[in-house]
Amino acid sequence: MSKHYQILIVGGGNAGLSAAAQLLIQKSSLNIGIIEPSEKHYYQPAWTLVGAGEFDINATEKRMADYIPKGANWIKDAVSTFQPEQNQSTCKSGKKYTYDALIVAPGIQIDWGKIKGFKETLGKNQVSSNYSFDVAPYTWELIKNFEGGTAVFTNPSTPIKCGGAPHKIMYLACDYWRKKGILDKCNVHYISGASVIFGVKEYAVTLSKVVAKNNIHVHFFSNTVEIDGANKTVYYEEKNADGFTELKEMKFDICHAVPPQSAPDFIKNSPLADANNPLGYVEINKNTMQHSRFPNVFACGDSVNAPCSKTGAAIRKQVPVVVENLLSFLNNKECGAQYDGYSACPIPTQYGKLMLAEFDYTNTPKMTFPFDQAVPRWTMWIMKKYLLPWLYWNKILKGRA
Ligand SMILES: Cc1cc2nc3c(=O)[nH]c(=O)nc-3n(C[C@H](O)[C@H](O)[C@H](O)COP(=O)(O)OP(=O)(O)OC[C@H]3O[C@@H](n4cnc5c(N)ncnc54)[C@H](O)[C@@H]3O)c2cc1C
Repeated sequence: MSKHYQILIVGGGNAGLSAAAQLLIQKSSLNIGIIEPSEKHYYQPAWTLVGAGEFDINATEKRMADYIPKGANWIKDAVSTFQPEQNQSTCKSGKKYTYDALIVAPGIQIDWGKIKGFKETLGKNQVSSNYSFDVAPYTWELIKNFEGGTAVFTNPSTPIKCGGAPHKIMYLACDYWRKKGILDKCNVHYISGASVIFGVKEYAVTLSKVVAKNNIHVHFFSNTVEIDGANKTVYYEEKNADGFTELKEMKFDICHAVPPQSAPDFIKNSPLADANNPLGYVEINKNTMQHSRFPNVFACGDSVNAPCSKTGAAIRKQVPVVVENLLSFLNNKECGAQYDGYSACPIPTQYGKLMLAEFDYTNTPKMTFPFDQAVPRWTMWIMKKYLLPWLYWNKILKGRA
């Protein structure tokens, strides 16, 4: 026996809860089920500030029960398989749920295991990562107590949530060490799988100056493959100009590493995955957010194959499109709403100053404010530290922003 919902949502994260709340604002009589296994909901964008000693980790975690929108049914379970031909999802418990329309929003999978030794050394041996709720406070311990030596920051070659996070923490660390008077004793290296510091050239110009000012040694096309915590060594594969890959190693005194990421395995192994996407993301039309093969399936958030930057800011623009198109679909109307790939990356360039990079699928700046956002500002820092967390818990998750 299966239970039926008009709309079934997989994942009660940023995307899933915002979508449920906006749907219920549009039509309170909708019968919505949200499948979500976690008792807790996390405001992950603040983890960078946690790592920099500027935000309390406990304020980033709240009870899921308090944020499931009134009128939606929380199914405390995890989806394991999809049967889209039967409009059905099956959960780990074995229970099955059918739907008229499905929203897939289970976020991204952190592949700690893809860097040898990382999981074993995470949170000890001077190795940290802001990508973990448990470990982000350790980043601050490392930065605060550093007295000089080699500091390594890594960025993987896969897309990740918040592409700016691997270097945001590096700029803050350098600024902290400058103020402490030890920056000239710090040998800072950025080992990145990317080919540039930032994909939008207007913002990259600003960041290149920050890199130069802090005397950061940048290694592009360099993919971290192993972290040997006991011997304080990072191994990375660097692609040279001839396209050959060379294995290199670097000793460190502290290391902030970012793991490779991909679609959750249950998505990768499902009929909803894009067979041409090696990381297994959900196959959608990047403008309508509707599944390419199953028209009653929509997706938003970090698990989609759309070539946008994976952020909460992107989700804020995706969700209204999903909501409008899903309701159109249920009313046998055309899915006319379009997402243009908007995303934003708030990059602190030092304590008290932040550059709000906004852009779309074409990597064209899409600035909200009537000033040059490529210039780091105190007002943007205040927005990131105080306004955005408030907006998230009080408006975004409630479908009102
Ligand atoms: C260090 C860091 C810094 C960041 N900085 C920023 C920033 O400055 N600005 C910004 O906009 N964004 C930032 N982000 C990115 C932002 O947090 C994510 O893009 C956003 O949370 C993605 O939302 P989501 O709903 O797709 O996934 P999530 O919010 O991760 O939620 C996914 C949900 O799905 C649930 N789930 C998982 N598996 C299943 C299953 N099998 N069945 C049902 N449910 C399941 C999970 O329990 C979870 O609740 C940052 C992220 C990190 C880690």
